[in-house]
Amino acid sequence: MRRLPLTLLSASLMLAIGTANAATQTTIPAAAVKTAKQLRDKAMNDNTAYDVVTSLTTEVGPRLAGSPADARGREWAIAKFKALGFDKVYTEQVTYPLWERRSEHAEIVGPFPQPLDLIALGYSAGTPKGGLTAEVVRFDSLDALKKADPASVKGKIVYVDARMQRHKDGHDYAIGSGVRVGGPVIAAKMGAAGFLLRSAGTDANSRTPHTGVTGFKDPKEAIPAAALSNPDADQLDRVLGYGKPVTVKLDLDCGFNGTYTGANVIGEVTGRKHPEQVVAIGGHLDSWDPGTGAIDDGAGVAIAMAAGKLIHDMPQRPDRTIRVIAFANEEMGLWGGRAYADKHASEVSKFQLGTESDFGARKIWLMTASVKPEARGAMDQIAKVLAPIGVDYDAKKPGGGGSDLSQMHGKGMAALTLVQDGTDYFDYHHTANDTLDKIDPKELAQNVAVYAAFSYMAAQADGDFGSKPGAFKDDGAEE
Ligand SMILES: [Zn+2]
Repeated sequence: MRRLPLTLLSASLMLAIGTANAATQTTIPAAAVKTAKQLRDKAMNDNTAYDVVTSLTTEVGPRLAGSPADARGREWAIAKFKALGFDKVYTEQVTYPLWERRSEHAEIVGPFPQPLDLIALGYSAGTPKGGLTAEVVRFDSLDALKKADPASVKGKIVYVDARMQRHKDGHDYAIGSGVRVGGPVIAAKMGAAGFLLRSAGTDANSRTPHTGVTGFKDPKEAIPAAALSNPDADQLDRVLGYGKPVTVKLDLDCGFNGTYTGANVIGEVTGRKHPEQVVAIGGHLDSWDPGTGAIDDGAGVAIAMAAGKLIHDMPQRPDRTIRVIAFANEEMGLWGGRAYADKHASEVSKFQLGTESDFGARKIWLMTASVKPEARGAMDQIAKVLAPIGVDYDAKKPGGGGSDLSQMHGKGMAALTLVQDGTDYFDYHHTANDTLDKIDPKELAQNVAVYAAFSYMAAQADGDFGSKPGAFKDDGAEE
């Protein structure tokens, strides 16, 4: 055997290593990148998502999970997927507690009698007939409540007064939702008769309280719990400022009423080469009841449906399946997302990549991802296609998959987070002001461009993004 010179040997070794390395790297073929750019540009001028969210918020309107509108929303979604031409449309049942809102009133009884604007929270108990009248005891944070002597709140109405500020990434919602979810449970355990909070919202001068779910799991542990609008919380603060005992009467007619079976509604664009492998995108179909659920989350459903339709309308189906999921009952505890993840956990390796839109309708400005290291090159390719429409890519932060799909990510699905500008999201979130006029059709179209382009590239990739059981367990993604 002829000896190779050392330099040649090392060069050929390096070449071999390089080739082997390239084989394990996930890449997106140049033709797919080119098509993704065309999809992106078409989506920027496409009105489908705005038409879809207009249809949903007008024809169905508010869609509280378990209400008669839950079923109407499902029928709407099935019909809309079919009308948009999806190849396959089906439902998967989801069962959740039924909670009903009937009416809510409140007033300051003394020292200065006057009405208060508030809204009952999800899973709140109703008050006894004739209402609940008790003294208010105020805390400025959840921590302050936790540290309180239970004797000081027993039989009283606990009021937690934490204010949220606007931020582009909406991070103060961790404070607001923490008080809303955890506060009522803590107060109930301490023997409180009722619970009030300053709305988990960033609007300052609108008398529209923000509803949302509490952490009550069992009707037996629930107490009456409601949110005051920000101006009403200010007023209660002024009354408390006189230093005299303040008595409030709550009259809430609401509560648990058995269980309800709804469904996740799913539409697919069937993959040509690997129909069993899916790119999963979606939004949640339910909404809170005071508004029409335009930004939360009609927009998310519309963005995902429109992205799927754009890919469907191309001359040829993508290599892998695009699966659009309209989730049931996200609002009262990710019921649709959890049911979906439980049912599909064993197939997690077939989920190429996924993410859900559930943070409004403003432009996407940041992409983060939890993918295997060998797929970071493909992520760079996706980022390059999205950069011209204003999307940054932070390769160091994890991607959590959004609200419901965070549950599939928890099972090991490779996931993105596509962050919208949430500066004014919590002005309207879970209020009567969550209506269609808050959506700018152009900004909504930018979201569709992002979803269509990334979904298509993921569907055409040579290689996967690292989904497998238990992957990404310690990636630090939220939700
Ligand atoms: Zn939502």
